[in-house]
Amino acid sequence: MLNGKQTRHLTLPLWKALIKYVDGQKRAEQQLKASEENFRVLAETVPQFVWTAQPDGSHEYTNQRWRDYTGFTPERVQRWDDLQFLHPDDRAMNQALWRHALDTGERFECEGRLRNGQTGVYRWVLTRAMPVRDEAGQIIKWFGTCTDIEDQKRIEEALRQSQERVNALMNSNIIGINVIEGEQIVDANDTFLRMTGYNREDLRAGCINVMHMTAPEDRAQTQQAHQELAVRQALTPYEKEYICQDGSRLPVLVGGVVLQHDPFQALGFVLDNSAHKELEQRKDHFLGMASHELKTPIASLMLQTQLLRKQLAKQDIQNADRALSRMESQLNAVTRLVGELLDLSKIQAGKLEHAQETVNLGDVLQEVIEIMQQTQTTHAIVVHHAEHPPLLIGNKDRLGQVLLNLISNAIKYSPGANTIEVAIETSEESVILSVCDHGIGIPREQREKIFERFYRAVAPYQHAFPGLGMGLYIASEIVKHHRGTITVESEMGKGSTFHVTLPRKSP
Ligand code: ADP
Repeated sequence: MLNGKQTRHLTLPLWKALIKYVDGQKRAEQQLKASEENFRVLAETVPQFVWTAQPDGSHEYTNQRWRDYTGFTPERVQRWDDLQFLHPDDRAMNQALWRHALDTGERFECEGRLRNGQTGVYRWVLTRAMPVRDEAGQIIKWFGTCTDIEDQKRIEEALRQSQERVNALMNSNIIGINVIEGEQIVDANDTFLRMTGYNREDLRAGCINVMHMTAPEDRAQTQQAHQELAVRQALTPYEKEYICQDGSRLPVLVGGVVLQHDPFQALGFVLDNSAHKELEQRKDHFLGMASHELKTPIASLMLQTQLLRKQLAKQDIQNADRALSRMESQLNAVTRLVGELLDLSKIQAGKLEHAQETVNLGDVLQEVIEIMQQTQTTHAIVVHHAEHPPLLIGNKDRLGQVLLNLISNAIKYSPGANTIEVAIETSEESVILSVCDHGIGIPREQREKIFERFYRAVAPYQHAFPGLGMGLYIASEIVKHHRGTITVESEMGKGSTFHVTLPRKSP
């Protein structure tokens, strides 16, 4: 600026220039003030913490929000170096990065936990700072913000934990896991590959196809399972056999859930079921052996008892005859039980007889009723015969067994009634047999289950009836072998009607 002595000698143009210069200065100062004011308003309004620092990193300004949160007065923040407001574990990293930024003039960026001065609770923030330079490129200050990233950090942590769990599952050597797209297995864990003998190369080359690696007899069920998966989002676990890479077979238990729909992807879970299957086979083998071992001596005992009874009857020794008669009926019960056990093991081994003779179901029914009426006197069996001869192709003895089972169940489970109605009808394609009783009935939710192995209904009075839950299972397997169906209608306390539908022999 000019002093008083100097201004006295100024000419008019110079005066004008001087006044213009002073005005310019004033305007610049006002603009600076206004821009600083603008900055402050902005800094106090944004949701972030805002701060500035001097070129050497020492404190210059923090917004009110920052001070409220940390509880630091402007005086207490004169030096940043103590970093009291940062979590102790984050200080070293923060300091090192800040030092580096100050030394190099590069932008600063660091995540750390900032302490709430009032509650002492830390929240994650992302701190960023940029240097502000003058025209010569010299840093004149640092401008920084801290943004709350607590929620993001929480999500990241939850994701990390869930990823850890997924990894633990994927890396477990207990359960095979695969990702299926259509019929193709597009990803799998090591356990699945180890189980099936395939490797990562096979996976990459797209060589693992669910249908190809499923045993032929299980393919229809697998197809059905995939359809169920698409509709119900999850798969009820089912048993099947894989054909491994080396051609060997592996019994497995598989389940799955839908991952995404477009393109359709499912996550499959596979458990090696071979130990369980082997045990089951051993059990079935044992049942078969035990029944065989029992059957011969029982048959011989039965024969001897009958002979003895006939001899005694001739001598008219009444009491001995009655005792032997009871023995005979007990032996009959044991014979039936052993027969059922034997059938069960045959079914399990897939060795049920497949005789293919022409059978008249009406004749079979007549024979069964004659046998039954020799031993039971409580119920009259009323028969409604078909108009046309109910001819079909199958196994006469096995079909007789189905009838015997249905009629004896009808009698057993209707102790308060005295009739059973049996009807045979024919349609163009089928022979339909119905056995109707007026007994205890079967609860609705158990009407399908009673055809399963060893299943006995849970219902009032049920425990009063002897049985092992094998008869209907065997009957339904026999019906299946004849490509037929067996169903039941029932009303609790009123009775049940079993319907067997079998394909009729074409005329
Ligand atoms: P069991 O009679 O030896 O228990 P089944 O396999 O023949 O075995 O029958 C399975 C179950 O079905 C029986 O335990 C019984 O609960 C039910 N059941 C079968 N037939 C009838 C019937 N006619 N009335 C009521 N319940 C029946």
